[in-house]
Amino acid sequence: MAERITIKSESQHELMRAAGALTGETLAYLGTLVRPGISTKVLDEAAEEFIRSHGAIPSFLNYEGFPASICASVNEQIVHGIPNKKTILKDGDIISIDCGAKIDGFHGDAARTFLVGEVDPDIVKLVEVTKECFFKGLEQAKVGNHIADISRAIEAHANAYGYGVVRELVGHGIGSDMHEAPEVPNYFNIRMGRGAKLVSGMAIAIEPMINLGVRHVDFLPDGWTCVTRDRRPSAHYENTIFITENGPEILTNPI
Ligand code: MG
Ligand code: MG
Repeated sequence: MAERITIKSESQHELMRAAGALTGETLAYLGTLVRPGISTKVLDEAAEEFIRSHGAIPSFLNYEGFPASICASVNEQIVHGIPNKKTILKDGDIISIDCGAKIDGFHGDAARTFLVGEVDPDIVKLVEVTKECFFKGLEQAKVGNHIADISRAIEAHANAYGYGVVRELVGHGIGSDMHEAPEVPNYFNIRMGRGAKLVSGMAIAIEPMINLGVRHVDFLPDGWTCVTRDRRPSAHYENTIFITENGPEILTNPI
């Protein structure tokens, strides 16, 4: 991970638009495939095929050893679920799909939580509010504000519903590295301070991870999958955004 915050040039901004657009399109396409009976492995294969057929590289594949092109996290899995043949979606599940595409050296990174068939209304609400949390954070992503303004807005919206806000994993800067400085937490505490000041040319991924129950997490023995400690459901929603003088620009085609 790059330690410094990188400021992108106009030509790099264009490359990030291309990578972001394809990332968003990939997720929209995967959303059309989500249904009871499909395995997360099939979704992963579809994602890799889609990304490569558009002349890009799946950002996640082999990233720090991750074995797939998407993270597929079902129900109590928060993030970093590994696609596999045995995980077959069933009616009432939710699945968070996180995906990235690299074009000409620059990355897009985005995530959506999809409903599978008929989902419990409490869980539907969690998915909706998690998406709203992103947009609450986005409103604060303007030149002159600080990272903590985004963090606070996300946390306040989730807290209003009594949800748990995950702390162990956070949003991040993004560019020629998928994970760059600064960190973009979904919560605030006084020790963190205000965080980096937002300036034109920064690109960040804002990605609330919100739990129906407690905020605490466990990591499964596979070394990747992050689950809620109480095993109640969790939702994830992410876009890559670009800070401009005219406000934030979402690069990953929000759906
Ligand atoms: Mg992501
Ligand atoms: Mg991310």
